[in-house]
Amino acid sequence: MTNESKIRKIAKLLRKAYGVPKPRKTPPVDELVRTILSQNTSDRNSVPAFWALKKRFGSWERVLEAPTVSIAVTIKHAGLANIKSARIIGVLRQIKETNGKISLARLKDMSAEDGLSYLKSLKGVGPKTAACVLLFSFGKPVMPVDTHIFRVTKRIGLIPKDVTIEGAHDILTGLVPKDLIYEFHLGIISHGRETCRAPGPKCGSCLLYGMCGFKMKSLYRKKELCR
Ligand code: SF4
Repeated sequence: MTNESKIRKIAKLLRKAYGVPKPRKTPPVDELVRTILSQNTSDRNSVPAFWALKKRFGSWERVLEAPTVSIAVTIKHAGLANIKSARIIGVLRQIKETNGKISLARLKDMSAEDGLSYLKSLKGVGPKTAACVLLFSFGKPVMPVDTHIFRVTKRIGLIPKDVTIEGAHDILTGLVPKDLIYEFHLGIISHGRETCRAPGPKCGSCLLYGMCGFKMKSLYRKKELCR
């Protein structure tokens, strides 16, 4: 089976299990800030922090004018509030300096590669954050790799065991058919949260068992069947 047919088959199974993900088109600066807030924490903590920031300041211009400490207090639920508030102000300032306003609209006409290099030139923005903005705000075919995607695709055998999370972005972006990137990304995250969990993957009830290259899968399946 070629990688492409394997990925298409996985996507079909994930679609059956978790449904077709709803289309999403977040304004790009919102997506950028939201993803910075999500660094090293879960959506449960970062999403309320994002909405608290929007509610308190109303615009990114006002966030940029606010004292860092007020931002840190507002986003405290996301954790690492001092680092994240400085990072948010830093990227907003850089965007304003390079674009004349706080807007990322010009990324729409850039290639995915140019968009990635521009976003990664912003201090504190790594490949995952950059890829989230391009995928979720512009629909560009770039694969963001979070811990779930990194773990699950490695276990399945789509990426080499010794690859770094940074390297996995390029490999998966090249490997996953462009028309599937959005749903594959969200489907694998659902699978990582519900079945292929970091400790204790539920291999015994996993729909991808037959296609998975994880050496310990039969052991985990036995454990699950014995419960
Ligand atoms: S068989 Fe196990 S390791 Fe492989 S994808 Fe399923 S849960 Fe993950």
